[in-house]
Amino acid sequence: MELNHDEIRRYSRHLILPEVGLAGQKKIKSASVLCIGAGGLGSPIAMYLAAAGIGKIGIVDFDTVDYSNLQRQLLHTDADVGRPKAQSAKETLHGVNPNCEVVLHNTRITSENAFDLIRPYDIVVDGTDNFPTRYLTNDACVLLKKPNVYGSIFRFEGQASVFAPHLGGPCYRCLYPEPPPPGMVPSCAEGGVLGVLPGIIGCIQATEILKLAIGKGSSLVGRLLLFNALDMKFRELKLRRDPECPVCGEHPTIKELIDYEMFCGIVPQPTEANPDEVTVQDMKKALDNPALGIKVLDIREPDEYEIAHIDGVPLLPMSQLRQRFTELDPNQQYYLHCKVGERSLVAVAFLKQQGFKYLKSVKGGINAWSEEIDSNVPRY
Ligand SMILES: [Zn+2]
Repeated sequence: MELNHDEIRRYSRHLILPEVGLAGQKKIKSASVLCIGAGGLGSPIAMYLAAAGIGKIGIVDFDTVDYSNLQRQLLHTDADVGRPKAQSAKETLHGVNPNCEVVLHNTRITSENAFDLIRPYDIVVDGTDNFPTRYLTNDACVLLKKPNVYGSIFRFEGQASVFAPHLGGPCYRCLYPEPPPPGMVPSCAEGGVLGVLPGIIGCIQATEILKLAIGKGSSLVGRLLLFNALDMKFRELKLRRDPECPVCGEHPTIKELIDYEMFCGIVPQPTEANPDEVTVQDMKKALDNPALGIKVLDIREPDEYEIAHIDGVPLLPMSQLRQRFTELDPNQQYYLHCKVGERSLVAVAFLKQQGFKYLKSVKGGINAWSEEIDSNVPRY
């Protein structure tokens, strides 16, 4: 592995660092990294790795670019909206450093393809936003003995670590043996995220990758770094490997990849309609015909109501439901809507436990209303 004259000029600020030098830069050039996700975390990770001279970067993403991504996903520009993220990422990275080989995997990582995707790479970096993929990535990396550079973000908080039982540290399951119940932890789409937060956490992940590549410094193996942007505070937790861990412990019970959707309690969407759901068309009928006697309630939060709401639909925020449900009539028929139809299903289940009989959740929420009924209502 040699560096040509252009590369020597390009990486000169690395080459004059004694900790990197020519030998370290050659190690960076010979390293390959699989980046799972080309979104908020994947953007700074892949861009800095390409700029730093990582020889090969694989990008796994099956999604397309949406307007709501542009607030933080700097790999993609306004002109990329609607295009595959993997393709857009490749073009951006080529622009940053044409010497970097970018391999596209325009697919969803699954238990069937995870080993084949990960095996050719030295290091895996987790830029995913959902629990099934996070556990899948963890287990596949443990079983293939690949370092898994982990990061996650939510609202104003983020965390990062390096999971590598083969280097003496714990894995993600040692830290979080069980996934949270489905619906308990809202996604960034439901809960929001500060745009620069993935920039900070992703840069920490990219830093760890470069350190692993050159073999210098103390890595985050065995440590969990916690960051709060509102307080501007970093904290650190020591992590220990759990001898009882089902994948990296003394007596592992997971020796091959499992069904991670099922493990995380995500039930496949039934092909027939959910009996607790109605469509936005049903909601329109209810609003147009008061004689039907159906009341529609918006259970989103006041900030969301201010962004977009449907005229004539009163607000009863989910965060106040436990205190205020007694204001509602348990014998009245209600349709509940939220942003995309996830929280309203949880609210329906809660109210049924309180003795309410005639409740439905509006499938797709106000975003479906905006798409199918009234485009004057903004989507967010
Ligand atoms: Zn473990």
